This record gives sequence, C-alpha cells and structure tokens, in this order.
Amino acid sequence: MKILVVDDSPTMRRIIIAQLGQLGYGEVEEADNGQAALERLKSRPFDFVLTDWNMPFMDGRSMVMELRQTPGIDQLPVVMVTTRNTKADVIEALKAGVNNYVVKPFKPSDLGKKIDAVLAAGAKTN
Ligand SMILES: [Mg+2]
Repeated sequence: MKILVVDDSPTMRRIIIAQLGQLGYGEVEEADNGQAALERLKSRPFDFVLTDWNMPFMDGRSMVMELRQTPGIDQLPVVMVTTRNTKADVIEALKAGVNNYVVKPFKPSDLGKKIDAVLAAGAKTN
C-alpha cells in the first residue's frame, strides 16, 4: 500500500513515516503542502493519504475538497492528522471529505487503528 504523507513540518513527516514503518507500511512518499500533494496524487497512483490541516499555499482541508472533485483520485482514503482538536474541527474535516481524523500528538497504535478502521470500512485501494 503506497501512502502519501502531507505535512509542512519535516519533523512531523519524519515521525509519521517512522511510525508507518513500525506499522509495516514502508512504501511512503511525502509532500509539504496541499498543492504539492495534489500534483503528486495526479501524477502517479497512491492508495492512502495522511494529511495535516494547517499548511502554507494550500491547507489539508482545501486539498481534500479538491481531491474529492477530481476524477481518478476522488475515492482515495484520507486520514487527517492535526493539532486541531475541537469537535467543530472534526465535523468540518469530515464534511470536507476526510475518512478519519487523528489528533497530534498520537501513538503509532492510534495511527494504525485509524488506518485500519478506514480500510475496514471498505475504502477503495489499488
Ligand atoms: Mg502544519
């Protein structure tokens, strides 16, 4: 399963990629904002996206809304990984089209559970 990790913080990307490795997901690419992520997602196949919310150029919520309108990648499973932790934030993200939501900081097991839940719900992967 090929995963795209989207976060403007290089440290956070490194942490998430290390945790994915612990969970057995070794095929990972990274992008540092929503716009770069969309370009990447349109250029080659991915199975799963983990995205931050607050990022320069294009935030994660805008990125997900555009992704859901883009044929070919509109079904991609997306988990938002963010410090934004109010109920209103979660609802807004779900409305934008994310499949699940992880609040930073988190443990590898938290991340694994959310990914598993999305996959179990039958999100389409390649
Ligand atoms: Mg950020």
